[in-house]
Amino acid sequence: MKINIIGAGVAGLSAGCYLQMNGFETTIFERHSTFGGLCTSWQRQGYTFESGLQWLLGSGKSNPFYLLWSELIDMNSIRFVHHKVRIEIEVKDHTDIFGDRVFHLYTNLSRLETYLLSIAPEDADPIRKLVHTMRRMQSYEIPPKIRSVPELLPWYQKISYIKYLPMLFFLNRIKKETNFTFADKLKNPFLKEAFRMLFDGDEMPLMIITMPLAFNDLKGTGYPIGGSVGFAGNLERKYLELGGRIRYRTGVEKIIVENNQARGLLLSSGERIPSDVTISAADWNFTLFNALEGKYVNKMILKLHKQEHLKVYYSVFMVSLGVAASFQHQPHFIRFPLSQPLTSPDGTRYERMEMHINNYDPTLAPDGKTVISISYYTLNADFWINLRQEDPIKYQEEKQKFAQLIIDQADARLVGLKEKTEVVDVATPATFQRYTNNWKGSVQGWLPGKNIIARSPVETMLPGLTDFYFIGHWTIPGGGLPVAIKSARDAVQHICKNKKVPFRVRSR
Ligand SMILES: Cc1cc2nc3c(=O)[nH]c(=O)nc-3n(C[C@H](O)[C@H](O)[C@H](O)COP(=O)(O)OP(=O)(O)OC[C@H]3O[C@@H](n4cnc5c(N)ncnc54)[C@H](O)[C@@H]3O)c2cc1C
Repeated sequence: MKINIIGAGVAGLSAGCYLQMNGFETTIFERHSTFGGLCTSWQRQGYTFESGLQWLLGSGKSNPFYLLWSELIDMNSIRFVHHKVRIEIEVKDHTDIFGDRVFHLYTNLSRLETYLLSIAPEDADPIRKLVHTMRRMQSYEIPPKIRSVPELLPWYQKISYIKYLPMLFFLNRIKKETNFTFADKLKNPFLKEAFRMLFDGDEMPLMIITMPLAFNDLKGTGYPIGGSVGFAGNLERKYLELGGRIRYRTGVEKIIVENNQARGLLLSSGERIPSDVTISAADWNFTLFNALEGKYVNKMILKLHKQEHLKVYYSVFMVSLGVAASFQHQPHFIRFPLSQPLTSPDGTRYERMEMHINNYDPTLAPDGKTVISISYYTLNADFWINLRQEDPIKYQEEKQKFAQLIIDQADARLVGLKEKTEVVDVATPATFQRYTNNWKGSVQGWLPGKNIIARSPVETMLPGLTDFYFIGHWTIPGGGLPVAIKSARDAVQHICKNKKVPFRVRSR
């Protein structure tokens, strides 16, 4: 049975591996010249610039996603870095009791608790509750029964989910807490400001940070040495070993549908590739509204399209520098206030800078040198995407001008940075959109809504269309690599069930 897959990102490659393991004949069609999609890196004069993989959920055995990654990758062959501090946040208006302006978000919960209590004994109650919440998260299997697809289970197995009800009640109770509502409970002005700055000044569900911290503490969210390309390369290798085929530089134009059944692909070259089943692991908007011409939608899909239900996740303006210095004693990730706020040409105003100093991955730079990347997130990716199309010269000018302003401010922080910089690389939202086709240059699909634990409104199987599956980071708000692999595995289990093939995981 032949299955065509659109996209060689982490979702497409994972689906390909699971399908090959189950005896299907698959081909992946990838418009770019390489694998990985957003999980990628690029080489410039001896430096490797990262698209941004900072942490992999499931890097350690303590996390359920480890089980899934291990099915496809030899996880023992990857060295993971577990940072002691997740981020250093320099606050603007207050200092802690030691006169320090920097807030250290430790990844070890005991250390974090001691640190917070030493700064603000007056806030012992909310601090202890916060740490207790994270410890409680550690005691639950999140997500429960990762290898199961609940809707495919017989009723007597579904019943076993009852034991997860306390977890659901617990998560439901804490889901409304945001970094702002938590900051309001604090008396200490330094901590108050630090918590308000957790998401660069935005209000977000606190769970977005407490959940990863809970997993950080158990060494479940490490950074893989070798970065994105090294990590995704494992999947590509596995897929090819299993007998899969990838056609690079092969864009898909349309999904061919006959009698509401997906029957194959029409490539940009005009070639038609028939198949029994089609999987799209590409962008949500492209798949539903271009490749399927908006014919398989319902009210919810239309609401999503207008961003009435969820907003599209941020895109990013990223300046990467190859610097002839080791920065060995610098923190790996800092956020600090700017002396002069920056306004991007897309209209977004920034009061802080977020800088990754990749001094912990020697594979990214020659000896004694380092890659530094500075990211500015934006919800106005369309500005860059449209400008690049309409006026490429002005686009280049604006991009370089804004990058220069960023570098000047970075140089004020890391004195001598400019002088030691050997390579500058600038990626805008238009770059991310161009290379991966992600709608509005989104780096993680949809932004999680206020109800962070609500069932995802995104469809894997579209209303009225058979033999078609949609997978990837657009299927669950918040996206990321775990969503890519889980959605792929779940879809393959659905396919196996429909085609009456027992689902199995095997190495060859
Ligand atoms: C700056 C940044 C930081 C990040 N940090 C993290 C992190 O720390 N942890 C984490 O888990 N995640 C992180 N992510 C998110 C993560 O990289 C993505 O969510 C994930 O890689 C998405 O995988 P995917 O396979 O679903 O989609 P994609 O990576 O978008 O893959 C889709 C593929 O489909 C191809 N395609 C699209 N249209 C077509 C077409 N018409 N024809 C053929 N091929 C097509 C694309 O070229 C692409 O290769 C980060 C992303 C960025 C950019």
